[in-house]
Amino acid sequence: MSKNFQYKNQTLFCENVNLAEWAAEKKTPLYLYSAAELKDNLNTVNNIGRPYTFLPCYALKANYNPHLLEIIQKHNFGADVVSGGELIFALKAGFKAQQIVFAGVGKTEEELELAVKKGIASINVESESEINLLSHVAGRLKKRTAVAIRVNPDIDASTHEYISTGKKVNKFGVEPEKALQLYKKLKKDEWLTPEGIHVHIGSQITDKTPFERTAHVIENFVKQLEKEEISISNIDLGGGIGINYEDDFSDPHKPSTYIRHILPAYLQAFGQMDKRFTVELGRSVIGSAGILITRVIYRKESADKIFIIVDAAMNNLIRPSLYQAYHHIVPLIKKDAPTEVVDVVGPVCETGDFLAKDRQLPRLEEGDLIAVVGAGAYGQSLSSNYNLRPRIGEYLVEGDQLRTIAKEQSIEEIYNQYG
Ligand SMILES: *Cc1c(COP(=O)(O)O)cnc(C)c1O
Repeated sequence: MSKNFQYKNQTLFCENVNLAEWAAEKKTPLYLYSAAELKDNLNTVNNIGRPYTFLPCYALKANYNPHLLEIIQKHNFGADVVSGGELIFALKAGFKAQQIVFAGVGKTEEELELAVKKGIASINVESESEINLLSHVAGRLKKRTAVAIRVNPDIDASTHEYISTGKKVNKFGVEPEKALQLYKKLKKDEWLTPEGIHVHIGSQITDKTPFERTAHVIENFVKQLEKEEISISNIDLGGGIGINYEDDFSDPHKPSTYIRHILPAYLQAFGQMDKRFTVELGRSVIGSAGILITRVIYRKESADKIFIIVDAAMNNLIRPSLYQAYHHIVPLIKKDAPTEVVDVVGPVCETGDFLAKDRQLPRLEEGDLIAVVGAGAYGQSLSSNYNLRPRIGEYLVEGDQLRTIAKEQSIEEIYNQYG
Protein backbone atom coordinates (compact mmCIF):
# COMPACT_ATOMS: atom_id res chain seq x y z
CA MET A 1 0.00 0.00 0.00
CA SER A 2 2.94 2.32 0.41
CA LYS A 3 2.94 2.41 -3.37
CA ASN A 4 1.77 5.96 -2.82
CA PHE A 5 5.19 6.93 -1.46
CA GLN A 6 8.00 5.51 -3.54
CA TYR A 7 11.49 6.23 -4.73
CA LYS A 8 11.94 6.73 -8.47
CA ASN A 9 15.51 7.34 -9.62
CA GLN A 10 16.66 7.84 -6.02
CA THR A 11 14.05 10.57 -5.44
CA LEU A 12 11.02 10.26 -3.16
CA PHE A 13 7.69 10.65 -4.91
CA CYS A 14 4.24 11.02 -3.40
CA GLU A 15 1.93 9.62 -6.07
CA ASN A 16 3.15 11.48 -9.19
CA VAL A 17 4.77 14.40 -7.43
CA ASN A 18 8.55 14.59 -7.14
CA LEU A 19 8.89 15.70 -3.53
CA ALA A 20 12.55 16.68 -3.61
CA GLU A 21 11.96 18.99 -6.54
CA TRP A 22 8.78 20.46 -5.09
CA ALA A 23 10.03 20.93 -1.53
CA ALA A 24 13.37 22.46 -2.55
CA GLU A 25 11.82 25.93 -2.73
CA LYS A 26 9.25 25.43 0.01
CA LYS A 27 9.25 26.83 3.50
CA THR A 28 9.82 23.89 5.82
CA PRO A 29 8.80 22.14 7.99
CA LEU A 30 5.49 21.10 6.46
CA TYR A 31 3.01 18.25 6.53
CA LEU A 32 2.18 16.50 3.27
CA TYR A 33 -0.56 13.94 2.70
CA SER A 34 -1.37 11.46 -0.05
CA ALA A 35 -5.06 11.40 -0.99
CA ALA A 36 -4.57 8.01 -2.68
CA GLU A 37 -3.12 6.45 0.48
CA LEU A 38 -6.02 7.82 2.55
CA LYS A 39 -8.57 6.53 0.02
CA ASP A 40 -6.88 3.11 -0.11
CA ASN A 41 -7.21 2.84 3.66
CA LEU A 42 -10.85 3.99 3.63
CA ASN A 43 -11.74 1.53 0.86
CA THR A 44 -10.01 -1.28 2.73
CA VAL A 45 -12.19 -0.61 5.77
CA ASN A 46 -15.35 -0.42 3.65
CA ASN A 47 -14.57 -3.72 1.94
CA ILE A 48 -13.91 -5.52 5.21
CA GLY A 49 -17.17 -4.19 6.63
CA ARG A 50 -19.28 -5.22 3.64
CA PRO A 51 -20.64 -8.53 5.08
CA TYR A 52 -21.80 -6.75 8.23
CA THR A 53 -24.25 -4.07 9.21
CA PHE A 54 -21.44 -1.67 9.66
CA LEU A 55 -20.73 1.99 10.37
CA PRO A 56 -17.07 2.93 10.06
CA CYS A 57 -16.35 6.14 11.93
CA TYR A 58 -13.27 8.30 11.68
CA ALA A 59 -11.73 9.56 14.94
CA LEU A 60 -11.23 13.27 14.31
CA LYS A 61 -8.63 13.65 17.01
CA ALA A 62 -6.05 11.89 14.84
CA ASN A 63 -6.21 14.73 12.30
CA TYR A 64 -9.06 17.20 11.89
CA ASN A 65 -7.99 19.05 8.74
CA PRO A 66 -11.36 19.84 7.04
CA HIS A 67 -10.04 18.96 3.56
CA LEU A 68 -9.11 15.48 4.76
CA LEU A 69 -12.45 15.19 6.60
CA GLU A 70 -14.24 15.94 3.35
CA ILE A 71 -12.54 13.00 1.61
CA ILE A 72 -13.30 10.71 4.54
CA GLN A 73 -16.95 11.77 4.69
CA LYS A 74 -17.34 11.10 0.96
CA HIS A 75 -16.23 7.51 1.57
CA ASN A 76 -19.36 6.93 3.63
CA PHE A 77 -17.63 7.18 6.96
CA GLY A 78 -19.25 8.54 10.10
CA ALA A 79 -17.31 10.48 12.72
CA ASP A 80 -16.06 9.77 16.22
CA VAL A 81 -15.67 12.97 18.21
CA VAL A 82 -14.35 13.71 21.69
CA SER A 83 -15.26 17.38 22.12
CA GLY A 84 -17.83 19.97 21.11
CA GLY A 85 -15.21 21.45 18.78
CA GLU A 86 -14.77 18.15 16.95
CA LEU A 87 -18.56 17.75 16.76
CA ILE A 88 -18.83 21.15 15.06
CA PHE A 89 -15.99 20.34 12.63
CA ALA A 90 -17.62 16.98 11.79
CA LEU A 91 -20.97 18.63 11.03
CA LYS A 92 -19.29 21.34 8.93
CA ALA A 93 -17.46 18.65 6.94
CA GLY A 94 -20.82 17.13 6.03
CA PHE A 95 -21.00 14.14 8.39
CA LYS A 96 -24.65 13.50 9.20
CA ALA A 97 -25.62 13.77 12.87
CA GLN A 98 -26.98 10.21 12.68
CA GLN A 99 -23.45 9.04 11.81
CA ILE A 100 -21.61 10.75 14.65
CA VAL A 101 -20.64 9.16 17.97
CA PHE A 102 -19.32 11.14 20.93
CA ALA A 103 -16.84 9.71 23.45
CA GLY A 104 -14.84 11.13 26.33
CA VAL A 105 -14.68 11.00 30.14
CA GLY A 106 -15.30 14.69 30.72
CA LYS A 107 -18.05 15.98 28.46
CA THR A 108 -19.36 19.30 29.75
CA GLU A 109 -23.05 20.21 30.02
CA GLU A 110 -22.63 22.56 27.06
CA GLU A 111 -21.14 19.77 24.92
CA LEU A 112 -23.88 17.31 25.92
CA GLU A 113 -26.50 19.91 25.08
CA LEU A 114 -25.06 20.40 21.59
CA ALA A 115 -24.96 16.63 20.99
CA VAL A 116 -28.56 16.15 22.19
CA LYS A 117 -29.85 19.07 20.09
CA LYS A 118 -28.15 17.72 16.96
CA GLY A 119 -29.51 14.21 17.60
CA ILE A 120 -26.25 12.32 17.04
CA ALA A 121 -26.13 8.53 16.67
CA SER A 122 -24.77 7.78 20.12
CA ILE A 123 -23.40 9.53 23.17
CA ASN A 124 -20.94 7.10 24.70
CA VAL A 125 -21.13 7.69 28.43
CA GLU A 126 -18.42 6.83 30.91
CA SER A 127 -19.84 7.36 34.42
CA GLU A 128 -23.01 7.46 36.50
CA SER A 129 -22.59 11.22 37.00
CA GLU A 130 -22.49 11.73 33.25
CA ILE A 131 -25.69 9.69 32.84
CA ASN A 132 -27.41 11.85 35.46
CA LEU A 133 -26.35 15.07 33.76
CA LEU A 134 -27.23 13.80 30.28
CA SER A 135 -30.68 12.65 31.40
CA HIS A 136 -31.26 16.10 32.87
CA VAL A 137 -30.13 17.83 29.65
CA ALA A 138 -32.22 15.54 27.40
CA GLY A 139 -35.26 16.09 29.65
CA ARG A 140 -34.84 19.85 29.54
CA LEU A 141 -34.63 19.75 25.72
CA LYS A 142 -37.39 17.09 25.58
CA LYS A 143 -35.33 14.96 23.21
CA ARG A 144 -34.97 11.20 23.45
CA THR A 145 -31.27 10.42 23.21
CA ALA A 146 -29.43 7.26 22.22
CA VAL A 147 -26.58 6.26 24.50
CA ALA A 148 -24.00 3.52 24.88
CA ILE A 149 -21.93 2.78 27.95
CA ARG A 150 -18.21 2.52 27.45
CA VAL A 151 -17.24 -0.74 29.11
CA ASN A 152 -13.69 -1.17 30.36
CA PRO A 153 -12.87 -4.81 29.58
CA ASP A 154 -9.62 -4.86 31.62
CA ILE A 155 -7.53 -5.95 28.66
CA ASP A 156 -3.85 -5.12 28.36
CA ALA A 157 -3.34 -3.86 24.83
CA SER A 158 0.47 -4.12 25.19
CA THR A 159 1.00 -0.65 23.86
CA HIS A 160 2.62 2.42 25.45
CA GLU A 161 1.09 3.05 28.90
CA TYR A 162 -0.04 6.56 27.89
CA ILE A 163 -2.14 5.17 25.03
CA SER A 164 -3.54 2.12 26.79
CA THR A 165 -7.15 2.77 27.75
CA GLY A 166 -8.78 -0.58 28.46
CA LYS A 167 -7.15 -1.63 31.70
CA LYS A 168 -8.85 -1.38 35.10
CA VAL A 169 -6.38 1.28 36.22
CA ASN A 170 -7.16 3.58 33.26
CA LYS A 171 -9.61 6.46 33.67
CA PHE A 172 -11.74 5.28 30.75
CA GLY A 173 -15.03 3.38 30.79
CA VAL A 174 -16.89 1.48 33.47
CA GLU A 175 -16.09 -2.03 34.69
CA PRO A 176 -18.63 -4.65 33.54
CA GLU A 177 -20.31 -5.17 36.97
CA LYS A 178 -20.93 -1.46 37.37
CA ALA A 179 -21.96 -1.12 33.71
CA LEU A 180 -24.66 -3.74 34.23
CA GLN A 181 -26.16 -1.65 37.07
CA LEU A 182 -26.02 1.45 34.87
CA TYR A 183 -27.81 -0.31 31.98
CA LYS A 184 -30.60 -1.24 34.42
CA LYS A 185 -30.81 2.40 35.44
CA LEU A 186 -30.87 3.53 31.78
CA LYS A 187 -33.67 1.10 30.97
CA LYS A 188 -35.89 3.05 33.34
CA ASP A 189 -34.75 6.48 32.22
CA GLU A 190 -37.43 8.65 30.65
CA TRP A 191 -35.11 10.34 28.14
CA LEU A 192 -32.17 8.04 27.48
CA THR A 193 -32.28 4.89 25.35
CA PRO A 194 -29.51 2.33 25.84
CA GLU A 195 -28.93 1.47 22.19
CA GLY A 196 -25.37 0.32 22.25
CA ILE A 197 -22.27 -0.78 24.03
CA HIS A 198 -18.89 0.84 23.49
CA VAL A 199 -15.33 -0.34 24.04
CA HIS A 200 -11.94 1.10 23.06
CA ILE A 201 -8.80 -0.47 24.51
CA GLY A 202 -5.95 1.72 23.34
CA SER A 203 -3.96 2.85 20.36
CA GLN A 204 -1.15 1.66 18.04
CA ILE A 205 -2.01 -2.00 18.63
CA THR A 206 -0.39 -4.26 16.03
CA ASP A 207 -1.59 -7.66 17.25
CA LYS A 208 -5.11 -9.05 16.92
CA THR A 209 -5.06 -10.96 20.24
CA PRO A 210 -6.14 -8.10 22.55
CA PHE A 211 -9.02 -7.36 20.17
CA GLU A 212 -10.16 -10.98 20.12
CA ARG A 213 -10.08 -11.06 23.92
CA THR A 214 -12.09 -7.84 24.01
CA ALA A 215 -14.70 -9.35 21.67
CA HIS A 216 -15.04 -12.27 24.05
CA VAL A 217 -15.60 -10.01 27.09
CA ILE A 218 -18.16 -7.91 25.21
CA GLU A 219 -20.01 -10.92 23.86
CA ASN A 220 -20.41 -12.31 27.37
CA PHE A 221 -21.50 -8.94 28.63
CA VAL A 222 -24.19 -8.64 25.95
CA LYS A 223 -25.50 -12.08 26.98
CA GLN A 224 -25.68 -10.86 30.57
CA LEU A 225 -27.64 -7.82 29.43
CA GLU A 226 -30.04 -10.02 27.52
CA LYS A 227 -30.71 -12.05 30.68
CA GLU A 228 -31.82 -8.79 32.25
CA GLU A 229 -34.02 -8.16 29.21
CA ILE A 230 -31.90 -5.28 28.05
CA SER A 231 -31.45 -5.58 24.33
CA ILE A 232 -28.95 -3.40 22.56
CA SER A 233 -28.70 -3.11 18.80
CA ASN A 234 -25.23 -1.65 18.28
CA ILE A 235 -21.73 -2.69 19.28
CA ASP A 236 -19.08 0.01 18.98
CA LEU A 237 -15.72 -1.73 18.77
CA GLY A 238 -13.58 1.39 19.15
CA GLY A 239 -10.33 1.85 17.28
CA GLY A 240 -6.66 1.50 18.08
CA ILE A 241 -5.38 -0.46 15.08
CA GLY A 242 -1.72 0.37 14.52
CA ILE A 243 0.35 1.42 11.53
CA ASN A 244 3.85 0.46 10.39
CA TYR A 245 6.09 3.24 11.67
CA GLU A 246 9.11 1.41 10.25
CA ASP A 247 7.96 1.73 6.67
CA ASP A 248 10.97 2.90 4.65
CA PHE A 249 9.10 3.06 1.32
CA SER A 250 11.42 0.43 -0.13
CA ASP A 251 8.77 -2.22 -0.72
CA PRO A 252 5.27 -1.42 -2.04
CA HIS A 253 4.02 -4.74 -0.64
CA LYS A 254 4.90 -4.02 2.97
CA PRO A 255 1.83 -3.05 4.98
CA SER A 256 1.62 0.61 5.85
CA THR A 257 -1.39 0.00 8.12
CA TYR A 258 -2.51 -3.11 10.04
CA ILE A 259 -6.21 -2.70 9.13
CA ARG A 260 -6.19 -5.82 6.92
CA HIS A 261 -4.45 -7.88 9.57
CA ILE A 262 -6.65 -6.93 12.50
CA LEU A 263 -10.09 -5.60 11.55
CA PRO A 264 -11.38 -8.83 9.91
CA ALA A 265 -10.27 -10.88 12.93
CA TYR A 266 -11.90 -8.45 15.37
CA LEU A 267 -15.23 -8.58 13.51
CA GLN A 268 -15.08 -12.35 13.10
CA ALA A 269 -14.45 -12.75 16.83
CA PHE A 270 -18.04 -11.61 17.38
CA GLY A 271 -19.23 -14.68 15.48
CA GLN A 272 -22.77 -14.58 14.27
CA MET A 273 -24.08 -11.86 16.58
CA ASP A 274 -26.95 -10.13 14.87
CA LYS A 275 -25.88 -6.59 15.72
CA ARG A 276 -24.85 -3.42 13.99
CA PHE A 277 -21.13 -2.79 14.35
CA THR A 278 -19.45 0.58 14.62
CA VAL A 279 -15.68 1.05 14.46
CA GLU A 280 -13.75 4.20 15.32
CA LEU A 281 -10.52 4.38 13.37
CA GLY A 282 -8.05 7.21 13.55
CA ARG A 283 -4.40 6.35 13.10
CA SER A 284 -4.95 3.29 10.91
CA VAL A 285 -6.78 5.42 8.35
CA ILE A 286 -4.79 8.66 8.23
CA GLY A 287 -1.43 7.78 9.82
CA SER A 288 0.28 6.25 6.80
CA ALA A 289 -1.06 8.99 4.50
CA GLY A 290 1.07 11.78 5.99
CA ILE A 291 4.74 12.69 6.24
CA LEU A 292 6.53 15.57 7.90
CA ILE A 293 9.13 17.18 5.64
CA THR A 294 11.93 19.00 7.41
CA ARG A 295 15.29 20.50 6.48
CA VAL A 296 18.65 20.00 8.14
CA ILE A 297 19.78 23.34 9.58
CA TYR A 298 23.03 22.28 11.22
CA ARG A 299 25.26 19.31 11.85
CA LYS A 300 26.76 19.47 15.32
CA GLU A 301 29.36 17.00 16.44
CA SER A 302 30.30 16.71 20.09
CA ALA A 303 32.81 14.34 21.71
CA ASP A 304 30.52 11.33 21.54
CA LYS A 305 27.41 12.35 19.61
CA ILE A 306 26.40 13.67 16.25
CA PHE A 307 23.33 15.89 16.29
CA ILE A 308 21.37 16.56 13.14
CA ILE A 309 19.49 19.75 13.96
CA VAL A 310 16.39 20.13 11.79
CA ASP A 311 13.73 22.83 11.47
CA ALA A 312 10.88 20.62 12.77
CA ALA A 313 10.52 20.15 16.50
CA MET A 314 8.46 18.58 19.26
CA ASN A 315 5.85 21.32 18.89
CA ASN A 316 5.17 20.00 15.34
CA LEU A 317 5.40 16.27 16.13
CA ILE A 318 5.36 15.42 19.80
CA ARG A 319 5.03 11.63 19.56
CA PRO A 320 8.74 10.84 19.96
CA SER A 321 8.98 13.12 23.03
CA LEU A 322 5.67 12.10 24.58
CA TYR A 323 5.57 8.36 23.90
CA GLN A 324 9.17 7.57 22.95
CA ALA A 325 7.53 6.78 19.62
CA TYR A 326 9.58 5.55 16.69
CA HIS A 327 9.14 7.25 13.31
CA HIS A 328 11.22 6.13 10.38
CA ILE A 329 13.21 8.91 8.73
CA VAL A 330 14.17 8.90 5.05
CA PRO A 331 16.02 11.45 2.92
CA LEU A 332 14.03 12.93 0.01
CA ILE A 333 17.01 12.18 -2.22
CA LYS A 334 18.58 8.79 -1.54
CA LYS A 335 22.21 8.98 -0.55
CA ASP A 336 25.08 6.63 -1.12
CA ALA A 337 27.01 8.20 1.77
CA PRO A 338 28.17 5.88 4.57
CA THR A 339 25.80 5.68 7.51
CA GLU A 340 26.42 7.09 10.97
CA VAL A 341 24.55 7.03 14.28
CA VAL A 342 22.87 10.36 15.02
CA ASP A 343 20.22 12.09 17.10
CA VAL A 344 17.77 14.06 14.97
CA VAL A 345 16.70 17.01 17.11
CA GLY A 346 14.70 20.22 16.76
CA PRO A 347 15.38 23.82 17.78
CA VAL A 348 13.08 23.82 20.85
CA CYS A 349 14.73 24.49 24.21
CA GLU A 350 14.03 21.09 25.77
CA THR A 351 16.27 18.05 25.99
CA GLY A 352 13.13 16.06 25.18
CA ASP A 353 12.92 17.73 21.79
CA PHE A 354 13.97 15.00 19.39
CA LEU A 355 12.53 13.17 16.38
CA ALA A 356 14.95 10.22 16.52
CA LYS A 357 17.64 9.03 18.90
CA ASP A 358 20.69 6.91 18.14
CA ARG A 359 19.45 6.40 14.60
CA GLN A 360 21.58 4.91 11.85
CA LEU A 361 21.22 7.25 8.85
CA PRO A 362 23.26 8.01 5.77
CA ARG A 363 25.43 11.05 6.44
CA LEU A 364 23.17 14.13 6.19
CA GLU A 365 24.44 17.55 5.21
CA GLU A 366 23.14 21.01 6.05
CA GLY A 367 20.31 21.87 3.67
CA ASP A 368 19.25 18.25 3.07
CA LEU A 369 15.53 17.50 3.14
CA ILE A 370 14.22 14.51 5.08
CA ALA A 371 10.78 13.00 5.63
CA VAL A 372 9.48 11.72 8.95
CA VAL A 373 7.24 8.81 8.02
CA GLY A 374 3.80 7.91 9.39
CA ALA A 375 3.10 11.45 10.54
CA GLY A 376 -0.51 11.73 9.31
CA ALA A 377 -2.05 10.91 12.69
CA TYR A 378 -1.42 12.73 15.95
CA GLY A 379 1.03 15.05 14.18
CA GLN A 380 -0.50 18.42 13.40
CA SER A 381 -3.46 17.68 15.69
CA LEU A 382 -1.15 17.44 18.71
CA SER A 383 0.97 20.43 17.71
CA SER A 384 1.39 23.59 19.76
CA ASN A 385 2.90 27.08 19.64
CA TYR A 386 5.58 26.23 22.21
CA ASN A 387 8.64 28.47 21.85
CA LEU A 388 6.31 30.68 19.77
CA ARG A 389 6.70 28.46 16.78
CA PRO A 390 3.73 28.92 14.40
CA ARG A 391 1.68 25.97 13.20
CA ILE A 392 3.08 24.77 9.88
CA GLY A 393 1.46 24.43 6.46
CA GLU A 394 -0.28 21.29 5.21
CA TYR A 395 -0.38 20.07 1.60
CA LEU A 396 -2.37 17.40 -0.18
CA VAL A 397 -1.23 15.39 -3.19
CA GLU A 398 -3.84 13.93 -5.56
CA GLY A 399 -2.21 12.24 -8.55
CA ASP A 400 0.00 14.88 -10.09
CA GLN A 401 -1.82 17.72 -8.32
CA LEU A 402 -0.68 19.31 -5.12
CA ARG A 403 -2.59 21.91 -3.13
CA THR A 404 -2.35 23.79 0.14
CA ILE A 405 -4.90 22.54 2.68
CA ALA A 406 -3.72 24.59 5.65
CA LYS A 407 -1.83 27.84 5.54
CA GLU A 408 1.00 28.21 7.98
CA GLN A 409 0.21 30.42 10.91
CA SER A 410 1.89 33.81 11.20
CA ILE A 411 3.35 35.27 14.38
CA GLU A 412 1.05 38.25 13.79
CA GLU A 413 -2.04 35.97 13.99
CA ILE A 414 -0.83 34.49 17.24
CA TYR A 415 -0.04 37.95 18.63
CA ASN A 416 -3.49 39.22 17.73
CA GLN A 417 -5.18 36.53 19.84
CA TYR A 418 -4.16 38.55 22.87
CA GLY A 419 -6.39 41.49 21.88
C1 LIG B 1 -8.61 8.02 20.06
C2 LIG B 1 -9.82 7.22 19.97
C3 LIG B 1 -10.05 6.43 18.84
C4 LIG B 1 -9.09 6.32 17.70
O1 LIG B 1 -7.91 5.72 18.09
P1 LIG B 1 -6.84 5.29 16.97
O2 LIG B 1 -5.78 4.60 17.75
O3 LIG B 1 -6.34 6.53 16.34
O4 LIG B 1 -7.54 4.39 16.01
C5 LIG B 1 -11.24 5.72 18.79
N1 LIG B 1 -12.14 5.77 19.79
C6 LIG B 1 -11.94 6.53 20.90
C7 LIG B 1 -12.97 6.55 21.94
C8 LIG B 1 -10.78 7.27 21.03
O5 LIG B 1 -10.59 7.99 22.13
